[in-house]
Amino acid sequence: MPEIVQSKLTARRPWIFESRTRLFLTLFLIVALPTAILSALTAYFVADELKQQTVMQNTVAARLAAKQIEEEFFGLRRYLESFANRRSVIEAIQTGDGAEFQEQLNEMVDQNRKISRAFLTDPQGILLSVFPMDPSIKGMDYSDQSWFQGVFRSDQPYVSGAFRRTNDQAIVVTIAARVKDTEGKTLGYLAGHYAIAELLHWFAGVHTSDSARIAIFDHYGKQVLGINTGTSGDISGHPVVQQLVSRPEGSLTIDDLDDFGRSILSHTPVPEVGWTVMAYQNDEVIFAPMYRLLRVILLFFLVALSALGLLGWLWQRVLFAYAEDLRRSNQELQTFCYSIAHDLRAPLRAMQGFTSIISEDYADKLDKEGRECARRVGESAARMDKLIIDLLEYGNIAHRSLDFQKVDLSESLEAVTSAMAPAIQQTDANIIVHHPLGTVSCDQKLLQRALEHLLSNALKYVAPNTKPRVEIRSEKTDRGVRLWFRDNGIGIAPEQRERIFGIFQRLHRGESYSGTGIGLAIVRKAAERMGGNFGVESEVGKGSAFWIELPTK
Ligand code: ADP
Repeated sequence: MPEIVQSKLTARRPWIFESRTRLFLTLFLIVALPTAILSALTAYFVADELKQQTVMQNTVAARLAAKQIEEEFFGLRRYLESFANRRSVIEAIQTGDGAEFQEQLNEMVDQNRKISRAFLTDPQGILLSVFPMDPSIKGMDYSDQSWFQGVFRSDQPYVSGAFRRTNDQAIVVTIAARVKDTEGKTLGYLAGHYAIAELLHWFAGVHTSDSARIAIFDHYGKQVLGINTGTSGDISGHPVVQQLVSRPEGSLTIDDLDDFGRSILSHTPVPEVGWTVMAYQNDEVIFAPMYRLLRVILLFFLVALSALGLLGWLWQRVLFAYAEDLRRSNQELQTFCYSIAHDLRAPLRAMQGFTSIISEDYADKLDKEGRECARRVGESAARMDKLIIDLLEYGNIAHRSLDFQKVDLSESLEAVTSAMAPAIQQTDANIIVHHPLGTVSCDQKLLQRALEHLLSNALKYVAPNTKPRVEIRSEKTDRGVRLWFRDNGIGIAPEQRERIFGIFQRLHRGESYSGTGIGLAIVRKAAERMGGNFGVESEVGKGSAFWIELPTK
């Protein structure tokens, strides 16, 4: 029902009001589009910023850890070296005093708590002494061990790769230094175990973020320590991680970092010992603030959409209620007008009847002046009747429901000229039509009534003894099709052009040109209701060109 009401009230509604779906779709787009763009931009910028921050955090963490490891091993190597150079150690080996070996090794462990076990071998790598004492490895040959090979070849204090110590399962590295006499002859080798877990004390002191993990790899690519990595934190099995060991510093994103998922990782080498430190953070944790922000935006979007939908619905209901009220009051007004018109016309017809009786049956009883009065009374009654009919037509055009369809202007004009054939013949008018006139979208009956008024005016408003000439043609415009009626009539003064479109506005007295002054008001109302326009170009004495413009869609 509301749709019908609307079509009666409005000639052409904007596209979005033509259906509820369109209205809600438009409202949805008005809210959804900016929200989507805002969310996308926010996500893009925030994600970029978060990523940069993470890369920076990881790089700093990896560098700090690398520095710490470097310093730790530098210190330990120097410690081993200085111990190996001790006179007491050299003398103990030279004299082959086993008790002194023990004494020296004991002192080495005591003076540096980070060394958990100390060894002394002869130049061939055969164990001379170990502290704490362990009879099970007495006389053991260490010559094939990596630490022995390392210090033997480089002649420098050496840090081995990490390995798990059998007796306590601790992950340790061996730091070794050569013991030589004053001539530089090798007397033996001094070595100490360093438990990697010692580094944890340092990390516990500097660790700040729960989401950041740190993994430390020895020069064989074995993960020797994982900080904050939980139970399954060994990432050394990942092929990308293996490729990064001992590489120059850098950052990258790895899609599936074991149980950790997509991660942003920075790696830094520790040149002193050939190790690598990697610091990494999980994607989900990094972007969690952004997802929280997007969830808030989505929530606002849903609330705004619901509010807008509710308002739209209320607004539509109110609008339809008003429309219904308006339709009802228009209908009442129309009924009222019809009944008034009917009531007014009845006495008018009686007046017309009686004046014609007076004029015909009592003509001989009246003098000339009496007959003239009777004629004038009859004429006035007829004019009054015509006025009422025209007013009714105007009211009808303003309020009736329209039936929009594609209308061929040539066909409509054809229908109008045939209906007006008697008037055309009577005035001996020359009607020239430039076909084709085109197609418009309008109410056909309303269009024909407008054309009838325009044509009849063109036939009527000519100078005395002038044969009317009407030229009809059309042109395409931005808004549709414009139909022109150019006549050779008396023309209209510029200052009168707007006035003649008003109701009851006439430029001529009834004696010269009969009429009620409603015709052009009807044409204008019809054009407006069909979504078109109406206008005139004219010059006094040079004819007029009226145009009506109608949309094609
Ligand atoms: P009516 O013709 O009944 O007087 P209209 O509303 O049709 O009423 O016209 C209003 C006035 O506009 C007319 O009285 C006339 O003065 C002027 N007019 C209308 N059409 C023309 C025309 N083609 N040429 C000159 N004047 C015109």
